[in-house]
Amino acid sequence: MTPAHFQAEADLHLENEMRSRQSLPDTSALLPQGLDTHNADLIMQSSDHVPFYVHKSILSMSSPIFRDMFSLPQPADGEFVDGLPVVRLAEEAQVLHNLLTMIYPIPSVIPGEYDKALDLLAVSQKYDMVAIQSSIRAEMKNNLRPLTAAATFRAYGIASAKGLTPETEAAARLTLDFPMTFESMGDALSMIGGWALRDLIRFRRHCRDNLASCLESLLDTRLPPIDIWTGCHSTTSDIIPWWLQAILSGHISDLHCPFSKSLLKSSSIRAEYLRALQLHVTQTRCTFCSKTHVMQGETFCTQVEKELSKALEMVSALKPPFYEHSSSLNNYYYG
Ligand SMILES: [Zn+2]
Repeated sequence: MTPAHFQAEADLHLENEMRSRQSLPDTSALLPQGLDTHNADLIMQSSDHVPFYVHKSILSMSSPIFRDMFSLPQPADGEFVDGLPVVRLAEEAQVLHNLLTMIYPIPSVIPGEYDKALDLLAVSQKYDMVAIQSSIRAEMKNNLRPLTAAATFRAYGIASAKGLTPETEAAARLTLDFPMTFESMGDALSMIGGWALRDLIRFRRHCRDNLASCLESLLDTRLPPIDIWTGCHSTTSDIIPWWLQAILSGHISDLHCPFSKSLLKSSSIRAEYLRALQLHVTQTRCTFCSKTHVMQGETFCTQVEKELSKALEMVSALKPPFYEHSSSLNNYYYG
């Protein structure tokens, strides 16, 4: 090869390299603060074309997927920029930015929005980063939860689509606090796949039916915890006071409704109980109910809350037939 050929080849190489550099946008603002790119030996490129200069050794320590990938020989026609191999990833820059803050010894950045934290969790699951998944889950458990109906249904859509099993279950449970209607779901409806939507409807139906069965069993005056209430002065001796009957029967009646309605919260029963009892004692001067409340009211409320919570825990959103949890209550609906 003549010197002219060498020069032409060098010029071509330089031109290609300049073109490659020009194709990369100025994205320094998206790079994690404090990230040391010195001695980087790889460029991780996001789906929105942001290059992250990283170190194979650090990625390999965090992820067996990357470790296996780097153990393979570099393909002959592989892409290079600045002399470094380029790996194109399917994730957007913001997710990769957050992921790198979890891998490198710099301050971690976990998104404050529940659905974005789910995206980060899904990526760490995809690359089998076990320790990072634990950190994200701990942060989500302690400090994050979807705050609105739409955010809750959106969280269910993301978690179910990305195979985040515990988060799918948790989000399905959180949807019980909201009506499942077009108005409350908003754009989240388009994010929930057909099978996931079917599972969520089935889950909500089973929760509703189990709650109704639980309340019906609580009305059996022969059994605890309700048996302490037979003897109110304003009713006959073998039935429970009308004020307590009204609360439980009212909820049973409310539960004979479409799955789309929000469900009774076990924690709301206590406040209803206290209000009704106070009114009853004030109006009738009933010493029996007053005394029963002082002696056993706290235990009664705790037991009722526990039974209602247990009725919901028996149903799982994961997949039909729904997994059954052990329970002393045998007459619940299992579907
Ligand atoms: Zn009474």
